[in-house]
Formats: sequence, structure tokens, C-alpha cells
Amino acid sequence: MKIKDLVNFFLKKYPVSKQETWDRCGIIVKAKLNRILTKCLICLDVNNEVIGYACQNGINLIISHHPLFKNKVNQIIINKLKKNSISYLSLHTCFDNNKKGMNFLIAKELKLQKIIWIKHNKSYFPLGCFMMKKKIKEIITSFKRKFYCPYVFTNIKNVNKSFKYIALCAGAGYHCLTENFNKIKQKNLLFVTGDLKYHNWVEINENKLNFLDVGHELENFFVDFIAQEITNNFPQIKVKKFFSKQTKFLVN
Ligand SMILES: [Zn+2]
Repeated sequence: MKIKDLVNFFLKKYPVSKQETWDRCGIIVKAKLNRILTKCLICLDVNNEVIGYACQNGINLIISHHPLFKNKVNQIIINKLKKNSISYLSLHTCFDNNKKGMNFLIAKELKLQKIIWIKHNKSYFPLGCFMMKKKIKEIITSFKRKFYCPYVFTNIKNVNKSFKYIALCAGAGYHCLTENFNKIKQKNLLFVTGDLKYHNWVEINENKLNFLDVGHELENFFVDFIAQEITNNFPQIKVKKFFSKQTKFLVN
């Protein structure tokens, strides 16, 4: 199988036309796409560690969730990929905006029910409910257990407070959730996303909303899912998974 065959498989399933206007999805490095695909690596982010791993393991195609946006640091990484003849495909919002993309998969894993899909730009996010009310501490435990969430932040002080409804947007979804707040008014609602900033928390508390920041690492789920899709469709392809590690630490 050629590198371009797998690239085309994913671009057919997650077309670049689905990406958000600000995004940089698609094939970012085309390094001899007609070559035979030796091994493929799936990751959340491409960095120097990923490239080192790819070089050591004979990988000639990397598929990442996040793209390398245009800047000087990322250009150095892109040059390294070119130098080592490693092709690079990013699926980011083409994947997220698929109706069975990131938010769908996480909602499914959380066993959310009665889901209403709310549209934001080209993407959809779910408002769903648990079968029974769940304590916030149990919800946090399930995120940590089912996904790659090394740290969770919340403005809910009482860990026994329970919720039935969840509005979820993986990644940095604060604006996506709050800009659509009028569509998702629901009592006993918990918002879940990642990457909240200080000023977001100020607004959240001012508006008496309940939020859980489960970190951007939640999206490592992409790595497992895409690797499984390759194994299911092309069992002959060797796939390696590279998970983004914890990037920050709490110091008391
Ligand atoms: Zn993301």
C-alpha cells in the first residue's frame, strides 16, 4: 500500500472542506507519497520528540490531530519532517466536524443519552444526560479513567454536587459552549471542555455556571480511534501510537 492511499482514505472520510476557516488540515508535508507505506504513527501533536520516535521506528507517515500552524518554531519541525522524508497529515477540525468525530466519540464513551446536537460554525457539540444524576467527583473519575486527563479543574467546590445534563466540547471549547448558552439552557447542567483561561473562570463564576476543565489531553482519544480505524480497514499496516504527555504540573 502506498502512503497516498492511506492519506486519501482519511481525506475522503474527513474532507478538508469540513475544516474551520482558521485551520490548517490536510497533507502538510508531502514526502514522496508514492512510496510504500512502511509504518504509520498517530499522535495528538507533532513535536521534536515525535519526529525522533518516527525516525527511530522507520515511520514514513504521521497522522496528527492538531496541525502545525505557520510560525518559525513549527517551520523548523516541518523542515525536519521533509529532511527525513516523513509525510504528515493533520485531520483536526475535519475530524472534529464529522458527525461521528471527537465530540460524538466522547459522548458515546460517557454513555450520554437523549443527545441534542448543537451547531457552532461547522461543528456540532452534544447536550446529553446521564441515565441517573452523577456526583461531580464520579464524573471527574470517569474522565480520568476513560480518557487521558491528567488534571481536572472545576469551579464546583462541593464534590458531592450531582448533575444530570452535560454540554461537552473537547479541546478549547469555552466560546463554543457559552456563545450557544441560550440554546442549551437546562437546569442542573455541567459544561465540560478544556483549556480554560483565568478570565473564562471569572465569567463562569459571575454567571453562576458549572464548569469542568478536563484538559486538552482529552483529545488523545483521537490517537486510539484513528489507530483502530487503520487496523480495522488495513490490518496489514503497522501502526504506532504516540500520546501527548502531561505538559504542565501543579506546584504547591
Ligand atoms: Zn485540540
